[in-house]
Amino acid sequence: MSTYEAFPSRARVSEPLRPYLSPTRRGLRVTNSNGGFCRQFRAALLEAHCGHCAYCGEFLCPHSFHVDHLIPKELGGSNSIGNLVASCPPCNTAKGARDLESLREVLAVRFSKYRGVITAAQSRKLAELGVDLGLERFRFFFEEVLEAGA
Ligand SMILES: [Zn+2]
Repeated sequence: MSTYEAFPSRARVSEPLRPYLSPTRRGLRVTNSNGGFCRQFRAALLEAHCGHCAYCGEFLCPHSFHVDHLIPKELGGSNSIGNLVASCPPCNTAKGARDLESLREVLAVRFSKYRGVITAAQSRKLAELGVDLGLERFRFFFEEVLEAGA
């Protein structure tokens, strides 16, 4: 099953994810005084992502989506608009403080026939042992949108 079959709604998204291209909302306050993300920022981020998780493309619940750091704070990432994406809770939890390529491995397994059978770590170990699972390189939703808008 291709990605477009899995998520037909992806094909309807034509507008690039603005935060990736240019921080056009410079006046927008990102965090509030207690360090949380401002409600207005969350709404703008969700709109810029056309309501989708930047990683897997699932439609997001406006009340429970996560704001994720593309480059984790633990790896030097900031709270700048260009480093923040809207994410579904499972993607954000799976990514944690790791880099994007770690999440790519997780999603490659999640969207394969091995979902629930093996973990990303196990698939990596099997690959190291020379076992070809035939997993395709997962393309993030934001990558597809950026390519479509380029
Ligand atoms: Zn997701």
